[in-house]
Amino acid sequence: MSARAGIVITGTEVLTGRVADLNGPYLADRLLELGVELAHITLCGDRPADIEAQLRFLADQDVDLIITSGGLGPTADDMTVEVVARFCDRELVLDAELETTIRRIVGNLMSRYPGVDAEAVHAANRKQALVPAGATILTPVGTAPGVVVPGHPTVVVLPGPPRELQPMWQAAAATDAVADALAGRTLYEQETVRMFGLPESGLAETLREAQRDVDGFDRLEITTCLRRGELEIVTRFEPQDAPVYDALLATLSDRHAQEIFSTDGALVDDQVAALLTGRAIATAESCTGGLLAARLTERPGSSAYVCGGVVAYANSAKAEVLGVDPELIEAHGAVSEPVAEAMARGALARFGADTAVAITGVAGPGGGTEAKPVGTVCFSVALAGGTVVTRTTTMPGGRSDVRDRSTTIAMHMLRRVLSASR
Ligand code: ATP
Ligand code: MG
Repeated sequence: MSARAGIVITGTEVLTGRVADLNGPYLADRLLELGVELAHITLCGDRPADIEAQLRFLADQDVDLIITSGGLGPTADDMTVEVVARFCDRELVLDAELETTIRRIVGNLMSRYPGVDAEAVHAANRKQALVPAGATILTPVGTAPGVVVPGHPTVVVLPGPPRELQPMWQAAAATDAVADALAGRTLYEQETVRMFGLPESGLAETLREAQRDVDGFDRLEITTCLRRGELEIVTRFEPQDAPVYDALLATLSDRHAQEIFSTDGALVDDQVAALLTGRAIATAESCTGGLLAARLTERPGSSAYVCGGVVAYANSAKAEVLGVDPELIEAHGAVSEPVAEAMARGALARFGADTAVAITGVAGPGGGTEAKPVGTVCFSVALAGGTVVTRTTTMPGGRSDVRDRSTTIAMHMLRRVLSASR
């Protein structure tokens, strides 16, 4: 049996969807890494009764650990610590040392706002120095301290802002109280396989075969998910079942050698970044409006190989900025392989790059024709030296799906072309 945990996300702004929850997924990943089974993530607003109800619910599910997010600020609607203290049956006590720490942090902040009444602010912050008796205090990253309240379940209380919550979870995970709560857990290993170009049904079929052929298959915990046009297969298993996982991996590799692009957790973005080392890439995008350039530059260090990109949306831009012959557009249409190829060549030349990618397509909802329905997208990858690979795909989905999926297809084309040219 592995230890079980639950997460309570609080905050009316998250409940109403105005802020998308980042903390649940972050904590879920960290728990997975620790081999802790996550039973539930619950979500409620800032009302104390609702927060308490969620704590009660999770305790009834017999979890060993509850992590809460949000509601640690100085204002009256931030009540999580108070609720947790009551739930854990502990008194709130003023921690003098913590009060000094918060006073110092807030004092530094206040020096930037000279008009503000410092004493009123300190009074509001004093509330943040009230902690459940016997709790371990987590030093604030912002102004709000977190706490770990030992017991069954042990409750870790963290602030809402993700840039505060993340380092404070790391601190919480290192406390004795959390270690005790998770003691006796089974450690799991986790491996990820990524595929591109295989429908989910094809994978389901292979997994059925594996279930029949691989001894001990049922001891593997396999989750598959379709994400950004790729299939992700995450397998969790106890260390002694590593040979069973190896047998599964052999079956997958046997059936889908073409489609598997990663067995070590690496993303296509990581692989393309590695392949671009020492190269210079330029992009020419129409229907994706710069999303590919954004994706390439998302990672730190990309300035070493990204020259730049052009969003050539109008035909005139394709002609004037990328040097695409208007007659080519006239003859084949803006969404066509010859135009995609000309855009890629144009990007190579204009940026003095050695690698270029072009994307032109019909993202919809309008603009489709019988010959080129919505979702038709042409891609071209060109390398200095003459290699050009161009292809057309028709993909399902709405405008944003088509645009996003197109960046994934372009990344995979890049990966294939660059790997082959090595
Ligand atoms: P503060 O001192 O900033 O008030 P807090 O612990 O009280 O800290 P909240 O009031 O719950 O935190 O949230 C503050 C802000 O942090 C929210 O307005 C939101 O922008 C961000 N935030 C809170 N919870 C989440 C979450 N689950 N996912 C993403 N962002 C969040
Ligand atoms: Mg708050």
